[in-house]
Amino acid sequence: MSLTLADARIATPEGVHDGWLTIEDGRITHVGHGPAPRTGHSLAGRLVVPGFVDIHNHGGAGGSFPTGEQDKARDAVALHERHGTTTMVASLVTGSVEDIASATSSLADLCDDGILAGIHFEGPYISKARCGAHDPKLLRRPDPEEFGGLVKAGRGHVRMLTIAAELPGALDTIRTAAAEGVIAALGHSDATYEQTIAGIDAGARVATHLYNALPPLGHRTPGPIAALLEDERVTIELINDGVHVHPAMLRLAYTVAGPERTVLITDAMAATGMGDGTYVLGSMEVSVKDGVARLVEGGSIAGSTLTMDVAFRRAVQQVGLSLAEAVEVSSLTPARVLGLDDTIGSIAVGKAADLVVMNDSLEVAGVMRRGAWITEP
Ligand SMILES: [Zn+2]
Repeated sequence: MSLTLADARIATPEGVHDGWLTIEDGRITHVGHGPAPRTGHSLAGRLVVPGFVDIHNHGGAGGSFPTGEQDKARDAVALHERHGTTTMVASLVTGSVEDIASATSSLADLCDDGILAGIHFEGPYISKARCGAHDPKLLRRPDPEEFGGLVKAGRGHVRMLTIAAELPGALDTIRTAAAEGVIAALGHSDATYEQTIAGIDAGARVATHLYNALPPLGHRTPGPIAALLEDERVTIELINDGVHVHPAMLRLAYTVAGPERTVLITDAMAATGMGDGTYVLGSMEVSVKDGVARLVEGGSIAGSTLTMDVAFRRAVQQVGLSLAEAVEVSSLTPARVLGLDDTIGSIAVGKAADLVVMNDSLEVAGVMRRGAWITEP
């Protein structure tokens, strides 16, 4: 079965052009310029970008990945799919080792089914001083052996670990992660500049939501933010909801790291796609007001209610990225972080037909995943 999408504006890594594309068996088989050589489904001049890749996401539609409940997790994935996310990593939060292990083995089933692209442990090996919405009572000292056991529970699907480099045992745990094929990400950390570099030297390659849950940049105390930004080995995550990071600070980070080292994430939690109200993130109670999630106790920001389409649109309209740059930081670079850029992350022949159709105001008009419409434009 072959499908031609005609009269489209297509965003490829080379730029945006008027053209058409053909899809067969879930893959892109042709990308052409100008009018399509055969009749097809006309997109009436609308923009087509690659499906978004979200490497840091705790849930949505009332479902929270840290609970490990499969039906709820499917609801969350479906919600984000409708907003253009075609590849997603499920992020857990700090919990007891038993709870993390059981959520992990449950979510591993959804990874087996191709619904999730992996599991991310955010915690429990993070700083008490920078724990944000994580339960301080459940934080643990990094332990490579304990971590190895949690990785086993995921049957090959644990893809990322957020850890604070300054904690005793952290560097060994980062080395274990690297050896197990798990991406070590530095975050929720009170480390100095030097301690952060030691974490990168041990194998850490991602900065978990840069700026958030880290000591601020200081001209005599550069801290982790400067170390992570300037190191070419590190890709930085940014939550582009206008609440977590000011657009000017986002531009600053982007100017240093560039499109190859910057990824937009949602850090979305259960309330995403739902109304204001009271929700739970791990063991913590969260109140959502005007779309902003905060801990009931203490008021820390507790994840977001962001979706990738909004992060993408804000990148163009508020931050000032070009369409091509916004595509790169929402799809190709996160795909590369996961080691999946051979098969997803851009509109190119041979890659999966993961597509988002957008109207002129960059709102989602249609979503295709692996060649099947989730929403038909
Ligand atoms: Zn998070």
